[in-house]
Amino acid sequence: MAATPATAYGTLAERFPDFDLKPPDVIAARATSFWDPSPARGACLFKPTSTDEVSRFMRHCHEERLPVVIQGGRTGCAGGAVAGDGQIIMSLEAMTEIEEIDETGRTVTVQAGCILQTLQDAVAEKGFLLPLDLGARGSCTIGGNVATNAGGINVLRYGMVRAHVLGLEAVLPDGTVLSSLNRMLKNNSGYDLKQLFIGSEGTLGIVTRVVLRLEEAQPHRDTALVALDRFDAVPLFLRHMQRHLGGGLTAFEAMWGDYYDAVTLPGHGHAAPMARGAPYYVLLDSTGNADNTETMNGGILTDALAAALDDGLITDAVIAKSARETENLWIVRENFEAITAQTPCFLYDVSLPMQHMDTYVTAVQRQVRQKWPANREQEGQCHVLGHVADGNLHLFICPFTDGPDAKPVADRIVYETLTPYGGAVSAEHGIGHDKKDWLGITRDETEVALMRRLKRTIDPRGILNPGLIFDMTGQD
Ligand SMILES: Cc1cc2nc3c(=O)[nH]c(=O)nc-3n(C[C@H](O)[C@H](O)[C@H](O)COP(=O)(O)OP(=O)(O)OC[C@H]3O[C@@H](n4cnc5c(N)ncnc54)[C@H](O)[C@@H]3O)c2cc1C
Repeated sequence: MAATPATAYGTLAERFPDFDLKPPDVIAARATSFWDPSPARGACLFKPTSTDEVSRFMRHCHEERLPVVIQGGRTGCAGGAVAGDGQIIMSLEAMTEIEEIDETGRTVTVQAGCILQTLQDAVAEKGFLLPLDLGARGSCTIGGNVATNAGGINVLRYGMVRAHVLGLEAVLPDGTVLSSLNRMLKNNSGYDLKQLFIGSEGTLGIVTRVVLRLEEAQPHRDTALVALDRFDAVPLFLRHMQRHLGGGLTAFEAMWGDYYDAVTLPGHGHAAPMARGAPYYVLLDSTGNADNTETMNGGILTDALAAALDDGLITDAVIAKSARETENLWIVRENFEAITAQTPCFLYDVSLPMQHMDTYVTAVQRQVRQKWPANREQEGQCHVLGHVADGNLHLFICPFTDGPDAKPVADRIVYETLTPYGGAVSAEHGIGHDKKDWLGITRDETEVALMRRLKRTIDPRGILNPGLIFDMTGQD
């Protein structure tokens, strides 16, 4: 079943005369990924410009059993787009066209290599909102977003990518083009095949075009940062804000105190928009039209926050009064370079019920400190933030040692501590290469066996993103 290792660039270029293949030195001029600045690797780089070209190329690769790794913006957090020396890279970066914004049907049809922010801006010009939004918006692609079923900061209100995709076109590993470009909200005509490609991390097909559902633009946005002195106030505060703001509450992001303190460390981080030292912070967005926002009616958000202060749910609050202030609040949540500059630094993306989060985090932090107690300033650290309203936490573990066992030990602490809570080892980033040893914590054997059967059926030669999510066995 396995793909044969690809041969050297020279041989590939001879065997694929109809395609413009870039050599390894072009690949090496790029960083491996957003997270890894080391030179990228690969046998050759191919940047198709059309679905037809993707299809013809894959037909050859299928015939010759050549392994192909798909790349979008290379911002993924699970190593899924990272190729090895013998693998062909197919990057969708040249397929960026926004083909149609259908204002009546409220859809956009776009090629997979389009950058998320470019698409957000284009639909905004027509008065629409593409609710998918995440910190990597300036680099990640729609195809990568679909392949990873990305989440982001608006899931609470609008759902993950799966909720926005109405239809898509994908090229199967043997070159077959599956055109499932549905534009309707309702279509129960047999299996919903697009779901096979959403969140399957490019293991079943190459997403080439996507039809996304658009929402009405919400021109007014108010952003607030609050401090809380205990975790059990977080879900109560969430409920309180949902009651007051209804569907207007679009983002609700928690930061544990030591995350906030690390990214606002004087001289190293961002200016602290609110006093450091609180145990928890929540950053939230309230969006809407002219009738339901702070800006236009002078106070729903202020009233809600004042009531939360009176009820003792929060201990402090600031509301941004300008676009600049909004940016200054969000940068604390979205730019964590002060933490990732420490090496090594391992990022985790787990989900678990909110009522267990604080116990879980406390247990992980305790084990991290016990394992790496180097000294007062440099003891092992675990900084936590996340889309808490979605049950999703991100943990940055910085052990201050790059010994070979640091990553496996950190993995064990994060995932084994998660097991009693029925949590997921990936909430939104996917499994990729990095987490496949831990897939069994979240999926049982029957589920994984069916995943393997699907992979074997659609990609019998195992050429597309080989080795991602799970390894193939001889028995499935
Ligand atoms: C600062 C920052 C913040 C982030 N915040 C979030 C967040 O809030 N929520 C979230 O979910 N993620 C987040 N991410 C992770 C990342 O941005 C997402 O996973 C994103 O969807 C990946 O898109 P990409 O184009 O960069 O894909 P890549 O990284 O290039 O690829 C990711 C995976 O998708 C596959 N793939 C890519 N394109 C295609 C295609 N056209 N067809 C089939 N398979 C394909 C690749 O093979 C790989 O397995 C963040 C990343 C960064 C750097």
